[in-house]
Amino acid sequence: IKKVMPIPKAHYGGRHTVTMLPGAGIGPELMGYVKEVFKYAGVPVDFEDVEIDPNADDNVDLDYAITSIRRNGVALKGNIETRSTEAGVLSRNVALRNELDLYVNVLHCVSYPGVNSRQKNIDIVIVRQNTEGEYSMLEHESVYGVIESMKVITNFNSERVARYAFEYAKRNGRKKVTTVHKANIMKLSDGLFLEISRRVAKDYPDIIHNDMIIDNCCMQLVSNPHQFDVVLTTNLYGAIVSNVVCGLLGGAGLLAGKNYGDHYTIFEPGTRNTGTSIAGKNIANPIAMLNAAVDMLRHLGHKHHAIVIQNAINKTINQGVHTRDLGGTATSRDVVDNILKHIKIATA
Ligand code: ADP
Ligand code: MG
Repeated sequence: IKKVMPIPKAHYGGRHTVTMLPGAGIGPELMGYVKEVFKYAGVPVDFEDVEIDPNADDNVDLDYAITSIRRNGVALKGNIETRSTEAGVLSRNVALRNELDLYVNVLHCVSYPGVNSRQKNIDIVIVRQNTEGEYSMLEHESVYGVIESMKVITNFNSERVARYAFEYAKRNGRKKVTTVHKANIMKLSDGLFLEISRRVAKDYPDIIHNDMIIDNCCMQLVSNPHQFDVVLTTNLYGAIVSNVVCGLLGGAGLLAGKNYGDHYTIFEPGTRNTGTSIAGKNIANPIAMLNAAVDMLRHLGHKHHAIVIQNAINKTINQGVHTRDLGGTATSRDVVDNILKHIKIATA
């Protein structure tokens, strides 16, 4: 594996075009805030909006979204809904990641000092296999009343996600990688994932490697999260562990996640929520999507804009301008206005 960090894609006169997939629920309103903040901060990014009809029985919209991301290299994404019940129409979120071969999901979970959370001073990086495992979407009813679901673990994908985790640890001065698995029960599938991570670990003698069973990991995360540094895990365990850690830090509305392949990158809120029940009420926390947008700016090399917006976000959170998911009374609008205010101060 030659490179682990994707490079910024083609840009003209310093501007980038990025695919925007608002998705369902709170996605569209959060994207509206991103556009507003970008406009206000003078960010040289143009969005190509791509809507995906959740009720479609075909994948025409999805195919177009994939073409757009292939062209732009980078996307900002909400959670896409798939309402069609037609056989053969599978989760479009999963299909998108698979088609673009976004084999790793990285969720850097860092506490905000200003958020009243269950655990303090957390700094955990979750590196999750993003395209196979329990998400192979290969399910069938073999005989009436018996469902079989295939969990696919390959040598190739286990190796490159393990390599990514150790390489990330090395480049970012992290000390330990913990492989999270259930190899005591799933001896072949998780056994392979664990075995390969142990083999890759040998190439990184300066980084401590250990492993933990997923159930124990969930308990340890809640009771003693400070023992974790980089967590390397399979797809479904990664989804669970991500949600546990986000819960400890302040919930679904704060953190952003990155989906990487060798060629394309998708930025999105870390826990990939739709937020259907809170949509259109001016109460969704806009921070997770704005953090995803900041990550995207860093990736594209717009460092200055990223710093300005990041500082404005951090000041807003640490001043206690919180939506109700964080125990506050601010509306989404209040939070965004506060961020705009700090951008104005910083750029005046
Ligand atoms: P649902 O799909 O039922 O709407 P989700 O899985 O999308 O729920 O989200 C899980 C929980 O996290 C829900 O209670 C949702 O309201 C909450 N949530 C998700 N995103 C946000 C956000 N940006 N701000 C506040 N709450 C959020
Ligand atoms: Mg949901």
